[in-house]
Amino acid sequence: MDKAMVITGKTKLLGVIGDPVVHSLSPVMHNAALEALGVDYVYVALPVKTGDLARAIAGFTAIGLQGFNLTIPHKQAILPLLTDITAEAQAVGAVNTVWRTDQGWSGTNTDVAGFIAPLQALQDWRQRTVVVLGNGGAARAVVAGCGQLGFGQIYVVGRNSQKLAAFQTSWVDSPLKPPLIVQPWEALPTLLPEADLIVNTTPVGMHTTADQTPLDAIALALAPSSAVVYDLIYTPRPTQLLTLAAQRGLVTLDGLEMLVQQGAAALELWLQQPAPVDTMRVALDTWLAPTS
Ligand code: NAP
Repeated sequence: MDKAMVITGKTKLLGVIGDPVVHSLSPVMHNAALEALGVDYVYVALPVKTGDLARAIAGFTAIGLQGFNLTIPHKQAILPLLTDITAEAQAVGAVNTVWRTDQGWSGTNTDVAGFIAPLQALQDWRQRTVVVLGNGGAARAVVAGCGQLGFGQIYVVGRNSQKLAAFQTSWVDSPLKPPLIVQPWEALPTLLPEADLIVNTTPVGMHTTADQTPLDAIALALAPSSAVVYDLIYTPRPTQLLTLAAQRGLVTLDGLEMLVQQGAAALELWLQQPAPVDTMRVALDTWLAPTS
C-alpha cells in the first residue's frame, strides 16, 4: 500500500463542518486529491450544530486541525470567529474555506470562482438577466459571481421580506456594486420570462427533499427557451428542478463542477500547491454513478 494512504500519528487533519454534513461529497473529492498528491493528510466530515460553532472552532485550535470548509448553516456565522478574512469573502459576506495561521484562523470564499467556472465555458453573460432563488450564503457567492460576469440585471427572489431587505442593504457598501434587485417569491411569474439564467441556491430538492422542486413545470414554462437552469445542488443528480428543465428543453447545469472548482481552490490554499482537478472530478463522477 502507498504510504500516503496510511493514517499515522503524523497525519494532518482537514474537514468540512455543517449541519447536516453526512451527505457531503467533499471527503470523497478531497481524499482522492490528497492520495493523488501523496501528502500525509486526511479530510473528514464533522457535524457541528449552530449553537456549537464557537466551541468547535476552539476545539479545532486545540487539536491542530489544519483547515476546513463550511456548509449550511455556518458560512456567515463563522465571520466573527476569524482573525482575518479576504477582501473577496468580505464582499460576499460569507466564508466557505478556513485555514490556520499563527494568529488564529483566516477565511475566504472559493464558491465564487467555483460558481462561475461552468458558466464561463457556456457563453458571454454580459448584460444578461439572472433570477436567483434564495438569499442565503450560496446566493451571496452567486450574486458576486454574476457581478463579475457582467450581468446587467440580478434578481434575487426569497420568501422572507426582512431577510430580502437585509440582503439588498448588505451590498450597498460592497466594492462589487452588483446590479441587484430583491423580489418576493410571488414576483416570479413576471421575472422568469426575462431570465437568461435561473439559479437555485435553496436546498429544496436536496436528498431529503429530492421529490421537491423550487420551480414546477408551469413556472419553468414561463422562461425563454434559451434560458439556462443552474441548480447548485449536486446530490441527487439530476435534481427534480433539472429534470423538469431538461424536459422543457432548457440547458441545465448541476452543482458538481462548482463543487470541484471551489474544492480545488480550497485545497490549493491549504497545501500551497496545484490541486489535481481532474482526479477530484473523476472521484465525484465515480461516486455518484448509478450502481447496476
Ligand atoms: P443557506 O445559507 O441556509 O440559504 C438557503 C436559502 O434557501 C435561504 O435563503 C432560505 O430561505 C432558502 N430556502 C430554504 N428552504 C426554502 C424553501 N423551502 N423555499 C424557499 N426558499 C428556501 O444555505 P446555502 O449555504 O446558501 O446553501 C444552499 C444550497 O446551495 C444547498 O443545497 C447547498 O448544498 C448548495 N451549495 C452548493 C455548492 C456547490 O459547490 N455546488 C456550494 C454552496 C452551496 P430563508 O432564509 O427564508 O430560510
